Amino acid sequence: MGVVVILGTGGTIAGTGPDPSAPWRYTAAQLSIDQLVSAVPGLAGVPLEARQVAQVDSKDMGWSVWQDLGRALAAELARDEVDGVVVTHGTDTLEETALLLHHLVDVPKPVVLTAAMRPATAVDADGPGNLRDAVGLVRAAAAQGRHGVVAVLAGRAWAGAEVRKAHSHEVDAFDGGGAPALAETDAQGQWPQAMPVWPAALARGWALLALARPPRVELVCSHADADGWLVDALLAHSRSGSPTERLRGLVVAATGHGTLHQGLEAALGRAEQAGVVVWRSSRTAQGGVLSREGDRWPAAGPVTAAQARVALLLSLLSPVA
Ligand code: ASP
Repeated sequence: MGVVVILGTGGTIAGTGPDPSAPWRYTAAQLSIDQLVSAVPGLAGVPLEARQVAQVDSKDMGWSVWQDLGRALAAELARDEVDGVVVTHGTDTLEETALLLHHLVDVPKPVVLTAAMRPATAVDADGPGNLRDAVGLVRAAAAQGRHGVVAVLAGRAWAGAEVRKAHSHEVDAFDGGGAPALAETDAQGQWPQAMPVWPAALARGWALLALARPPRVELVCSHADADGWLVDALLAHSRSGSPTERLRGLVVAATGHGTLHQGLEAALGRAEQAGVVVWRSSRTAQGGVLSREGDRWPAAGPVTAAQARVALLLSLLSPVA
């Protein structure tokens, strides 16, 4: 049996609060990854190693944490004795990190993100069960030859390129944006003996994280009265700032299947003329925006707007053929 490595990055799963029956009053990212692991009795006897990579509330996630996580993942996944890696994370930006890792992981091993909606001190904390399920999934995946990036919460595993936070406060908060779960635990908390093949990670490699700063890509939304004022303000600010801070990309969370308010569309045209790459995603919860003949701007596919921002900045670093 190989080793499962658990990398801690913070989040509510590592959060603590003063009152176990008031789980909404807490501070994220307080407990160490060793403390989290030791609170899960179901992990005794599993060959585990735990490392603290970061300690952040994931609402504050950013490039430098992704660089640290990338370095740690590259090192652990390269070890022959490691079957796979679990990453503990906050729920707020889990979908962005999951999509980033889906693009970058370049070793055919399972990488399983997990999180919690309630802090570790809550009477009904969901973190310990999610962590047990995530470790169990790495072991099941390694035994069945499954690999790729997935996220596990509330007994279900979602593809890293599809997962998203779909509810702001329920414990069962994640879904696949319309795509089904890859697997579910049974009543005993076991993963299926024969899981479907997971979507393979895109193996674009960790070198994409090398720059000290990523290209600046911002997110705007189409909505009633969206007349492009915000886009023009971004362009004016970008022109007056330093060349390294220049706006390089804009993802628009469009209405429906990628439609735009005409005022915003005109401003996005001005952005494009100024050299900004424009991609369309959707502000709807499911489906995203698929490419259609005659599209003025590329469609980001089924991912969320926040995930599309990550995909666009990676594509500015290294265009996909
Ligand atoms: N703000 C927290 C975080 O994303 C929320 C959570 O983990 O549920 O780190």
